[in-house]
Amino acid sequence: MTEKFDVIVIGGGPGGYVAAIRAAQLGLSTACIDMNTGKDGKAALGGTCLNVGCIPSKALLDSSKHYHHLQHEYAAHGINASDVSMDINTMIARKDGVVSKLTGGVSQLFKANKVKQFHGRGRLLSNRQVEFTPHASDEQIVLEAENIILAPGSVPITIPNVEYDNKYILDNAGALDLSEVPARLGVIGAGVIGLELGSVWQRLGSEVILLEALPTFLATADQDISKQAGRLFKQQGLDIRLDTLVKSASVSDGEVTVTLEDKNGESEISFDRLLVAVGRKPYTEGLLSDDSGVELNEHGQINVNEQSQTTAAGVWAVGDCVRGPMLAHKASEEGVAVAELIAGKAAHIHFDTVPWVIYTDPEIAWVGKTEQQLKEEGIAYRSGSFPFAATGRGLAMGNAAGLVKMLADEDSDEVLGVHIIGPGASELIAECVVTMEFHGAAEDLARIVHAHPTLSEAVHEAALHVDKRAIHRGN
Ligand code: FAD
Ligand code: NAD
Repeated sequence: MTEKFDVIVIGGGPGGYVAAIRAAQLGLSTACIDMNTGKDGKAALGGTCLNVGCIPSKALLDSSKHYHHLQHEYAAHGINASDVSMDINTMIARKDGVVSKLTGGVSQLFKANKVKQFHGRGRLLSNRQVEFTPHASDEQIVLEAENIILAPGSVPITIPNVEYDNKYILDNAGALDLSEVPARLGVIGAGVIGLELGSVWQRLGSEVILLEALPTFLATADQDISKQAGRLFKQQGLDIRLDTLVKSASVSDGEVTVTLEDKNGESEISFDRLLVAVGRKPYTEGLLSDDSGVELNEHGQINVNEQSQTTAAGVWAVGDCVRGPMLAHKASEEGVAVAELIAGKAAHIHFDTVPWVIYTDPEIAWVGKTEQQLKEEGIAYRSGSFPFAATGRGLAMGNAAGLVKMLADEDSDEVLGVHIIGPGASELIAECVVTMEFHGAAEDLARIVHAHPTLSEAVHEAALHVDKRAIHRGN
């Protein structure tokens, strides 16, 4: 007999597993099918984010930051350390430990919430039926549900003439699992992954060269922030080459030779390892039967409406496989919203207030519109900014590079965007997201008491500076 559920989720990443837990909390009988297998050969929930994305990258960013600071920053505090060394295997094992703690934690949450976990591949058939192929088996089982949530996530984009082998030419998973520091690391793409993982290996001693096709660095960020970032990363030793098109890469004698084209014409450059980080694409391979009724758009994304409903009745889709930014928190909030809609509740996501964070040092974070977007859209605005170098806390910490920039509507003073590069940007942005969610004004932030001495005073002063009444800088 066919096993039936109220909800079947295909994909156990931050979109899928969160949707499954929320559906179960709402009293719906729920199953989650996920095919990911961990290093121990067992099911590992959490998707890209927990296994080969957000979490392992942040674990390595932290380890490498400690190592780098010990060598280059702590002497100014009077802390002198000699014979500092890095055991890469210990660093990788610590990262793996963090990952398995969290992936195991999701399995525990499934048990606690009575979500039935299926380890293997799911394929959507017609009439809300799902074909399940258990891990390492050819057997096929058909399951049925009132509602199905597709959350298959994304995979790295490949470029012509550059083939991943994950030994020399790496994707994100390969670059998170190196057993030694490559002397020369090439990175194709100076985007989020390139900067984060490039920083990790650069701090550990690699000479890192990023080859970026576009003429503008971090084109989606506010350009004042991108410019500062470009300067600071250059000082740190990241060699970012813009307007550089990679034509091909080949491996021979233990090194990777890249053929590229830039303003000087065609040339070759060799690396010990090459990371390819040129974006990600929705992963829908083998997910949909011909008669599933689910349509894809021209970008290969699953077509959904504002409420995440696909073109097939009772089938929903969330996360990296649909429109919008490829971010874990966006995927999770969509998952929660869909579970609530299925349970008959009201739910809505504000895509305009989804924050972005790049976990470099200094961190970069933003929410809302950039100055270039406001100009393009003809929206009249006022701008305020404040450097961390003018905050007592930043100076006391010895970590005061960067600034907060705030953009507010010229007439209403509503905050339209906040852009931060500096210490703690990933946490500071939360206050700005809340302000924007409540349609708050720069004046609201300016009138809120911010603790002294904190980095959040830079947000406060940037808000004051929108009205040209900042206290600790010239207006
Ligand atoms: P995924 O997390 O990709 O999960 C999909 C799951 O579905 C996978 O386990 C997959 O195996 C499974 N699956 C797919 N098809 C099937 C099928 N047919 N049957 C069964 N299972 C299937 N985002 C942030 O917000 N912050 C960060 O700091 C951050 N850092 C990142 C760092 C890196 C290196 C990378 C690569 C990504 C990072 N991201 C970050 C992006 C984030 O990982 C994704 O946005 C997020 O994981 C998307 O969640 P998802 O649930 O849509 O898909
Ligand atoms: P990305 O879109 O951030 O950056 C890719 C870069 O590669 C772009 O600058 C692009 O111009 C460049 N590029 C594309 N084709 C190229 C080519 N042929 N040669 C040279 N450069 C080329 O993509 P990503 O870094 O691969 O990350 C994928 C996604 O994962 C991100 O967009 C983001 O959604 C998510 N992510 C988020 C975080 C975070 O939130 N901190 C961290 C990592 C990844």
